[in-house]
Amino acid sequence: MSDADAETTFRSLRWPETKGEPVCPRCGCLDAYQTRRPTGLLMFRCKGCNKNFSITAGTMFASRKMTFKMYLLAVVIFCNEVKGKSMLALSRDLGVQYRTAFVLAHKLREALGSEMKGMEIGGAGVVAETDGAYFGGHVRPANKKENRRDRRLRQNQTGKRKVVVIVRERGGKTLPGVFKTEAQAIGFIKQRVKRETILHADEASSWDALHTRYQVHRINHQEAYSTPESCTNWAESAFSRMRRGELGHHHHVAGPYLLRFAQEWTWREDNRRVSNGDQAKRIAALALANKPSVDFTGYTQRHKS
Ligand SMILES: [Zn+2]
Repeated sequence: MSDADAETTFRSLRWPETKGEPVCPRCGCLDAYQTRRPTGLLMFRCKGCNKNFSITAGTMFASRKMTFKMYLLAVVIFCNEVKGKSMLALSRDLGVQYRTAFVLAHKLREALGSEMKGMEIGGAGVVAETDGAYFGGHVRPANKKENRRDRRLRQNQTGKRKVVVIVRERGGKTLPGVFKTEAQAIGFIKQRVKRETILHADEASSWDALHTRYQVHRINHQEAYSTPESCTNWAESAFSRMRRGELGHHHHVAGPYLLRFAQEWTWREDNRRVSNGDQAKRIAALALANKPSVDFTGYTQRHKS
């Protein structure tokens, strides 16, 4: 792809309704002068409000430092992975610094996550499964046996451990959330999962509160992983992808970005049958349909507070 082709692709992804013709991000005017800066940068000047704007103005790729080709390449590399893309490997593939790849990958995750904003799942006749998986807060056992402590006890943990709770429709969409405990997810589930949904959950007492609102089938994993009445295998298979992404690619996912990783993994799981070309187009279009990232705009220029 030439630079001009990449630019045309970006235009059509940014303004799909007008087939790539510019729309002023400030006033929505469809009429604009087109100029090219000496650097080659394509700029528009709105005939309505007289303000300048570029193809990426007001989007997640605003104030971009790399070429359009590089962004498209980054999105394609990100999509081609099945369980996640290590940000160090991404930086090597693109030939950029680690922090550049880190910020870019997180912006792509934020773009994916925007699809799940306020998303409600379930409904009449829909069967969904809910379960939780713990991430982070690993306590390394001490070298000598006499110094080792029982890591199952709360006082011997770091307090950084968090649980990713998902509700997954069988054959449908997945909704992730991050909480301190499974019990804290009840409010989130009641808010985002429609009342008529038939839920399946394991024997953990944290899910007891769901019976007040939903028809819930329980499976006791001490006895069996699946019975004709109930199983949570759809949820477990989503967690399998998460665990492999954690162990194989990212290693460290706990902390403030755990929800972003969880959104990335569930998105990958739900879109696993979508071709990688269509995945790449959707992610790029989402990034261009979203406002600049709150968490990552100017991230590398910020002073550590
Ligand atoms: Zn305007």
